[in-house]
Amino acid sequence: MNKPERGIQFWRGLTAGAEQLQQYKELLEVYDSRIGSFLEIDPVKGAALIQDRRGSGPLAGVPFGVKDNIAVKNFQLSCGSKILENFISPYTATAVQKLLAAGSIPVGKLNLDEFGMGSSTENSAFHPTANPWDHAYVPGGSSGGSAAAVAAGLVPFALGSDTGGSVRQPAAFCGTYGLKPTYGAVSRFGLTAYASSLECVGILADSVHTTREVFRTIMGADPLDQTSTAAPEGQADTAKSSPCTIGVLKQPEGLDAATEAVYLASIERMKDLGWTIVPIDLSTLEYVVPVYYTIATAEASANLARYTGIRYGVREQGTANHEEMVRLTREHGFGNEVKLRILLGTYVLRSGFQDQYYVRAQKIRTLILREITELFTRVDMMLMPVFPVSGFRLGSKQMTPFQQKMADKFTATANLAGIPSLSFPAGKAGQLPVGMQLMAPVFHEERLFNAAEVLSGGRPIELAPGSLVLPDGYDAKAVR
Ligand code: GLN
Repeated sequence: MNKPERGIQFWRGLTAGAEQLQQYKELLEVYDSRIGSFLEIDPVKGAALIQDRRGSGPLAGVPFGVKDNIAVKNFQLSCGSKILENFISPYTATAVQKLLAAGSIPVGKLNLDEFGMGSSTENSAFHPTANPWDHAYVPGGSSGGSAAAVAAGLVPFALGSDTGGSVRQPAAFCGTYGLKPTYGAVSRFGLTAYASSLECVGILADSVHTTREVFRTIMGADPLDQTSTAAPEGQADTAKSSPCTIGVLKQPEGLDAATEAVYLASIERMKDLGWTIVPIDLSTLEYVVPVYYTIATAEASANLARYTGIRYGVREQGTANHEEMVRLTREHGFGNEVKLRILLGTYVLRSGFQDQYYVRAQKIRTLILREITELFTRVDMMLMPVFPVSGFRLGSKQMTPFQQKMADKFTATANLAGIPSLSFPAGKAGQLPVGMQLMAPVFHEERLFNAAEVLSGGRPIELAPGSLVLPDGYDAKAVR
């Protein structure tokens, strides 16, 4: 086995012609059988979606994976749910369409927590995904398949979605980069809705460079998504390069020892780079989880009302009447976590309760946004942990669903405020990677990339042990 030489040459070599694509498909199947990151693998079908394969841009010929709640024509779109099992998408999401136009090849659909609800990918209706660094551990979630596939070297990047941390948390658990863009910076057309006012299509990638290229390709206003907007002119000019001023939590509470150590080490590293560290209090941080789960479940209860067995996916057969058909379709089609959230969301929206829960949550959301906006008048970026614990075992109940929800406070902050955030590999807890995140004001993704580039010294991520390598005798240069 030769040492994998990553970069454009490696990936274009794998996908250069029909024969290489077929061989790549077989490699993916073999490697993925160990971790279960994919729900569907078909680079040949993906390449057929590209109109012009002679492109020469940075992403031309470069393969990528897509979380299975983002539409790619002719591929399945299960959202990790039984209710959409075998549903084939009739169209392609805008973000994917832009990648196709750049000549990038979608190679398959990646596992997730059902409809993006969870932090471990164990809520997938189909199978769990293993963390490539230690197969006994979860890869995080809900974009766990996307993170695992990148960490295992199966693809250089993958699309995910981030409603409350679902790109950044699995990225942190698997040691990849994970970008949650500014709300509206990337079109949500073709992303299956969970909580529309919070979520974004995000990127999991093997380097800052890849993340930046992909972001630049998929960003922009889209007539098919009224909430999408172009970045204001001159965004790149306002991108701060080193040195910068970083806000850090005065008291990062509730972190396990390894995560706290990595957080403190990251601060030291920034000081060494000559960056200014400003300790901050985020007084609204303790409200993030209750506010997030009130708003997210309220929106979910409305968004998931469309799964009735009438227009999409699975339909319960042999029922006495229409009501029974809808009831049993939903009863058998949704998993427990999804049902819990629909119930909770319906409850907080009930007449008589709205003011007490939903409306109140919206008001606190405004306070959170105000505090963050004020903070960014004093600092360029904020450094936050991604998740309070450095990992947990598959199927272990080591973290209850309630504890997992409480642990979303560091990530969901960015979703409530609509700001961009990049999680980056920052250290290790034993075998397992630990990630931290930087947050910046809206439309300042370039500031995040510049800082992460400095922190990483331009180096790509360390791939997990046993990651994909080319078979003997495979000469990427020869096929190009
Ligand atoms: N863990 C969060 C949740 O379960 C994140 C979800 C997401 O970002 N899609 O809601």
